[in-house]
Amino acid sequence: MDDTQLRALFGLMDAENPPEYPPHYPPPALWKKTFSGADAAAAWRRALARRGDLVLYVHLPFCREVCAFCGFYARPCPGPGAVDDYLSALEREAALLSPLFAGRRFKWLCFGGGTPSLLSGPQLERLFDAVKGNFRPARGARTAFESHPDSLDPAKLRLLKKLGVDWLSIGVQTFDDGVLKKNGRRQDNSRVPGLVRAARAAGIKNVQLDLIAGLPFQSREAFEADVEKAARLDPERIYLFPFQAKERVRLKARQAPWLWEAYRRAVESLSRRGYELSCGRWLYKRSGGDWPYSYDQGERMSRDFYSVLGLGAGAISYARYGARYQNLADPADYARALSGGRLPAARGCRLGEKEEALNFLLLNFLQRGALDRREFRSVFGRGPRGAFGRVLDSLAADGTLVASRDGWLLDDRENGLFRLRKAFYPARPLTAAARGCGRRLVSAARAARRPSAATAGSGRDGAPGTLVFEAGRAPFAALAPALLREIKARRPVTVLLYCAGPGPGPALPRLAELVGRAGLKAAVNLPPCLLPGLPRLPQAAPAGSGDPGVFRPEGWVKPARCADCALQLECPGLDAAYAARHGARAVKPLRRRP
Ligand code: SF4
Repeated sequence: MDDTQLRALFGLMDAENPPEYPPHYPPPALWKKTFSGADAAAAWRRALARRGDLVLYVHLPFCREVCAFCGFYARPCPGPGAVDDYLSALEREAALLSPLFAGRRFKWLCFGGGTPSLLSGPQLERLFDAVKGNFRPARGARTAFESHPDSLDPAKLRLLKKLGVDWLSIGVQTFDDGVLKKNGRRQDNSRVPGLVRAARAAGIKNVQLDLIAGLPFQSREAFEADVEKAARLDPERIYLFPFQAKERVRLKARQAPWLWEAYRRAVESLSRRGYELSCGRWLYKRSGGDWPYSYDQGERMSRDFYSVLGLGAGAISYARYGARYQNLADPADYARALSGGRLPAARGCRLGEKEEALNFLLLNFLQRGALDRREFRSVFGRGPRGAFGRVLDSLAADGTLVASRDGWLLDDRENGLFRLRKAFYPARPLTAAARGCGRRLVSAARAARRPSAATAGSGRDGAPGTLVFEAGRAPFAALAPALLREIKARRPVTVLLYCAGPGPGPALPRLAELVGRAGLKAAVNLPPCLLPGLPRLPQAAPAGSGDPGVFRPEGWVKPARCADCALQLECPGLDAAYAARHGARAVKPLRRRP
């Protein structure tokens, strides 16, 4: 497979995952379809033989209607009877699994979906009875619950609090009624402020508002207004989620051209109001509240080690050093398996030392931008070089990684996800996955080869009056005519020179001069804190992937606390090494337009 085909294959594999699913190894597309309930039970026995925290995730797949932008395992609720039947199946699943977890306690209980708040009061009590009757929460266990505003009211909020919920997320998605309607979602937004107040009055300590950036039919202005409205309600956390056209999403809209620029500005606006970006994911916290496990499983990556038991149709479980697996997604199939006394596992993969180590390595690079040698050793008892030395060396040689005293840095943030996967994923399952994708892969690869408006001219639209020019790694002589052509055609005020690859490209200083000679101001892809007063570079999604997987602010270098850009790296030595490398090559902004 050439690189285009491989990128297309990774894109298809990502599209199959739920929207927030991190780039775990092995990815679901490489899991075995023959993974059985017996395999799941065996995996849990292996996992539970080790120490480590436990999280319980319960999936309620039903919604009043399925929104056109939704990529989760959700389906329209056929009626209250269907929920009762589903609860019966959940009770059977919990009863089958509970003997394995005897004597173990769960640190977090999380209810997601779908729309868990669709359940009536008695159904909610039955759900919590099934969970707590079969699995013991640890002392001080945190309980999180996802909700749709239309299925909440003060009485239900009081009941949720009584059942132990202290972390409540309210799925607003957008306050724009027109956008919601076009996306097939009914929602009375005027109730949201009252619900936030009612949740607080009920004693629920942590309220999160979920917003989506770049929804189909959403304008940039509408998204910015959403962020303002959400911030005014002063929730403990705001979840900004970039729209992703996953396989299950009905409306296959293209990514909004303003998405990452607006996203960055939203981050800045929220940081001025006391919110902080959490660990490179799309989560914003206020006052450092410690939220329970999120579906993304990325927030505490590499610090706390926990296994996740997923109950319900389509739920994904992670038995550390055991397996990662998913339940049957169709509620009828799920209930049928349980009626036959079988655990409803549908597909999965066994995890041994090798898979855990590789998963740790990939997630560290992709979520933190670095792999710390000592941290790896403290987890696996040996350094990463012993397990992956040859591949790490070759990635350092081709500029994907930079070796430092403390470990390795991911230097090529644009292509890093692709290059790491290409280097580490074994060829045989990839070939099998490519065969499985068949014609879809051929057409995806063909589409990727076709030059699009966004790539052909190297120009990309940023803020009004701004030309974003992908400088690439080509020599100045090859790039300059294209840049001048774009300037002439678009008449920008500012040119942002963006260079995908390891650090600023060699032609960048001369291109910046060229922009200056044209009487324009220029900015290059350097940390925003180094370029005061200039417009920010729009966030770029990794090339070749339909799923950014990880939010990586372009201005991610922040050796100390910097109010200006949102660094998520947490290894001071590695941060400093990266800052030194890129700071040394900083290209100063040129003259401003007179
Ligand atoms: S966005 Fe929420 S309410 Fe809409 S279909 Fe998906 S899970 Fe259900």
